[in-house]
Amino acid sequence: MITHLGVLQNCAAASRKGLQLRHMGSSRPIESVAIVGAGPAGSALAIRLAGAGFGVTLIERDRFPRQKLCGEFVSPGALPHFAELGVAERIESVGGAAIHETRFYEPGGRSVTVPSAWLGSSSALSISRAQMDLALLERAVEAGVTVFDGAPLTAVSHADGFVESIKVKHEGKEVTVAADLFVDAAGRAKPLTRMVTGAAPPAEKPPYIGFKSHFRPRVSNSGRCEIFLFDGGYAGWSPIENGHANLCFMVRSEVARERGGHAGRIVDELICQNSRAAEMLDGAERVEKWLAVTVSGFGIAELTPALNVFAVGDAGAFIDPFTGSGMLMALEGAETLAGVVKGHQEVNSARQVYRSEFRNRFAGRLRTSAFLRRAAFMPRLAKLAVIAAGSSAGLSEMLARLTRRSGAPLGRL
Ligand SMILES: Cc1cc2nc3c(=O)[nH]c(=O)nc-3n(C[C@H](O)[C@H](O)[C@H](O)COP(=O)(O)OP(=O)(O)OC[C@H]3O[C@@H](n4cnc5c(N)ncnc54)[C@H](O)[C@@H]3O)c2cc1C
Repeated sequence: MITHLGVLQNCAAASRKGLQLRHMGSSRPIESVAIVGAGPAGSALAIRLAGAGFGVTLIERDRFPRQKLCGEFVSPGALPHFAELGVAERIESVGGAAIHETRFYEPGGRSVTVPSAWLGSSSALSISRAQMDLALLERAVEAGVTVFDGAPLTAVSHADGFVESIKVKHEGKEVTVAADLFVDAAGRAKPLTRMVTGAAPPAEKPPYIGFKSHFRPRVSNSGRCEIFLFDGGYAGWSPIENGHANLCFMVRSEVARERGGHAGRIVDELICQNSRAAEMLDGAERVEKWLAVTVSGFGIAELTPALNVFAVGDAGAFIDPFTGSGMLMALEGAETLAGVVKGHQEVNSARQVYRSEFRNRFAGRLRTSAFLRRAAFMPRLAKLAVIAAGSSAGLSEMLARLTRRSGAPLGRL
């Protein structure tokens, strides 16, 4: 039975609970996996599972390379993943910038520095998502993954609580993809999860809006990612390949609305109130169009929205962008899920184990970043936080490490 979105949304809420109860005991082997979304989570998972002999199909809405809204700061912990996935050389050949430290500037110009060594190794990487995501997708093809790109998910077919197949629109035709296990790796929009659960689309007035574009900078900040805190949000400024720099910022949505949603006005009127931002952005020439996204919330979402549907990456949990660790979490989440699928090869036990391993690995750092979020959006608190962290290397190192750490959250230390 093919169930299109509207029909599924009506029946899913009523039927889901009963279906889950009836099938708690049933078991299904996993031989084939269909993954929706070819960001770092989806491509990394596809590469890992194809390498372990599973039949993998990867479905991506866009055609790569494409620009993607992101701070483009790749945390040091991601680099060993690139090596394991077989993309390290390909990514290195793009020529991204090595980042040795991240410096947080409060509006008045005081700063606190977080060396990349505190986050895992002596350097992080700054590289455009266009090139990074392309490298991962190309590697997935090499690893034997069947890829449909330019192929948005359009419908889900389910029976007895299991998703049997999904439909995607590819080159003007509808293609049906059947699998034993389906993975929502399509980012914060979670289209597969929404289709199977009937969850409402995100709030009409989301609390935050993110913007990003690339610039030709006048002033170099080689080797350093800079975070500018300002009234209503924060911005990240990082060198990337080709001598360009990425400016990515997140603001409370009313701040954007008051400025008609114009990124340029937010830069001039708010970001440049931060004295360091004004210095770095002075004379910088924008070389790409602005991208914008809404952000509805943070934290762990529904990890197993149906009996054989799992969520990974941002679809599973979203961490605050100021941590610069969303891509790391996407890669780590893919590693966790691939390990669970390889170890269990059956959906019921895989489901239980995945939920518990995911929480063990990520709940602590998500709580730490929720705690720090208060300071990120309030300039007075941000100033105090920068002064406090700047006066104690021990404190700033502990906070930086906690945004990456598995296990105990801040509240339990
Ligand atoms: C403002 C901002 C700044 C950030 N800065 C950083 C940073 O500096 N460093 C960092 O590590 N993280 C950062 N992040 C977080 C990071 O971007 C995400 O954590 C990361 O991209 C998650 O990867 P993913 O693979 O889960 O999802 P995504 O990268 O979002 O990939 C999902 C893929 O699914 C595809 N897709 C979506 N819908 C469909 C559909 N219907 N059908 C088929 N395919 C679909 C999309 O086209 C996309 O390619 C930032 C986020 C924001 C909002």
